[in-house]
Amino acid sequence: MRRVLTGTVAARGMALGRARLVQPSQFAIDERPLSAEEVEAEVKRLDEALAAARAELADLHDKLHGALAREVGEFLDAHSMLLSDPELVAGLRDLVRKGRYRAGAALKAQRDRLVAVFESMDDPYLRSRREDIDHVIARVHAALVRQTSREERKLAARVGEILVSDAIAPAELANLSRHGLLGMVASSGSPYSHSAILARSLRLPMLVGAHQALTEIQDDDLVLVDGERGEAIVHPTAQDLARYRAWQRDAAREGQRLASLAGARTLTRDGHEVHLFANAELPEEVAQARALGAAGVGLYRTEFLFLMRNVLPDEEEQYAAYRDLVLGMGGLPVTIRTLDLGADKADATGLALAAEPNPALGVRGVRLSLRRPAVFATQVRAILRASCYGRVRVLVPMVSGVDELEAVRELVRLCARDLRSEGHEIPEHCEIGAMVEVPAAAIGVRALLARADFAAIGTNDLAQYVLAVDRNNDALGALYDPLHPALLRLIAYVIAAGRRARKPVSLCGEIAGDVRFIPLLLALGLEEFSMHTGQILAVRDRIAGLHRGKLRALAPRLLRAATRDEVERILAACNGG
Ligand code: PEP
Ligand code: MG
Repeated sequence: MRRVLTGTVAARGMALGRARLVQPSQFAIDERPLSAEEVEAEVKRLDEALAAARAELADLHDKLHGALAREVGEFLDAHSMLLSDPELVAGLRDLVRKGRYRAGAALKAQRDRLVAVFESMDDPYLRSRREDIDHVIARVHAALVRQTSREERKLAARVGEILVSDAIAPAELANLSRHGLLGMVASSGSPYSHSAILARSLRLPMLVGAHQALTEIQDDDLVLVDGERGEAIVHPTAQDLARYRAWQRDAAREGQRLASLAGARTLTRDGHEVHLFANAELPEEVAQARALGAAGVGLYRTEFLFLMRNVLPDEEEQYAAYRDLVLGMGGLPVTIRTLDLGADKADATGLALAAEPNPALGVRGVRLSLRRPAVFATQVRAILRASCYGRVRVLVPMVSGVDELEAVRELVRLCARDLRSEGHEIPEHCEIGAMVEVPAAAIGVRALLARADFAAIGTNDLAQYVLAVDRNNDALGALYDPLHPALLRLIAYVIAAGRRARKPVSLCGEIAGDVRFIPLLLALGLEEFSMHTGQILAVRDRIAGLHRGKLRALAPRLLRAATRDEVERILAACNGG
């Protein structure tokens, strides 16, 4: 019987396929005590995860070469020693055998205990080694999670399927899309999560917050994901299928109409030129960005190189990826953002901390990179080497103050010096910019711009931090509002600061590619938009219908508005000029 579930659209489009359910429980740490019969099997799981983590470290060690080999090697050796430490291993086994802890809970308990010991030490060096504990435990935990979720991954990785789950990590989604996944219905989550962003760039229709999905949909049910209306239709009727075919025809027609805008300049109705950049993560997107006439790549999220795998990419591998990106853009500027792991972008390599109490406010982005100098230097070296092939701009995520930017600049300087001494020809100046996505960075943007070459406003995070609304929590849905007057004022302030400092300021959050927000952003003075390649033509088309002068004249009223409704009324009255 036909059933309709409603949800929030995270990625538009429609998809028809068979449902594949993934139940959520195995992703959480299970705190329930083991029964006596379960104990030995759990010890075996734990031992296997420890062995897998040790093998990963050995593998990483074997792959080391180049200038960083010694430094990184030492750090890997320290981790291998910890992993083989009889006290650590015996302690974990004891927790499972005597305490009846499950492996995940034992890891957590052991970590907490060791961290407390390290933190009570007087020696600041030894105290700082607690990081190693987190790293090692996270690696074992990742191996444990992989053990339990491998079966699920296999289940979901068939062609022609719609994934139905509570939520999905970006790494899983990337993996599944390569195996023929068609669309996704999640019972929780938000359209501003990283998975939603990835779904849009992969063009996988996605609904989030479809609360009944896991109870109302069964494995193998035929499901039509309607990412236009925000519906998942279980057992669609002939009428639904006719609508699906009509949508396919319309989408093809609209695609043809917009195709005539490929390669064109982006001009407002009153002839003002606006620059559209691409947020590109995948090689195909780079080719598409160029073909559509993007002004460059405004955001390349390097974490996607790290998310799809269990072992950290080495310098050569990263270099090859960045070099191909630069070459692919044929001389247009390319903005490579340094690693932004952490929060919902937890990787499988154990680099990001697995169990922070408040990960969005935790060791994320540049904070993580600065605590992992060897990993960060590897990335910076790869970026610098790629910068020989075209204009590269280095973008630093989650900056909250000038010190972080200065620390990155210093690391870039040291890496460039080493590379030159090794015979590489590295350009004299490396453009370094700050993401403005933490309120402190927005409020302090003038100081940042005095030291940065450019800035990029990340409204996905700026909204969550300004409004204190977790971007992944669907229970807060309507509160996560890019039209909130407080946010508009901050965005306008940052854009104006850029103009005053004569430094480029772009916006690369999701709203830059959402045609509904274009009039507002033009009104606030934005000149550089960065978006999924799939949105470039629609945004160019929208801009062609807007009168920038008239929109700019609305800015003072928009910035005085007290509510989102007022903002909408002001914009509607003008209707784009
Ligand atoms: C942002 O926060 O707006 C942004 C572009 O970064 P990400 O979505 O990767 O956090
Ligand atoms: Mg961000």
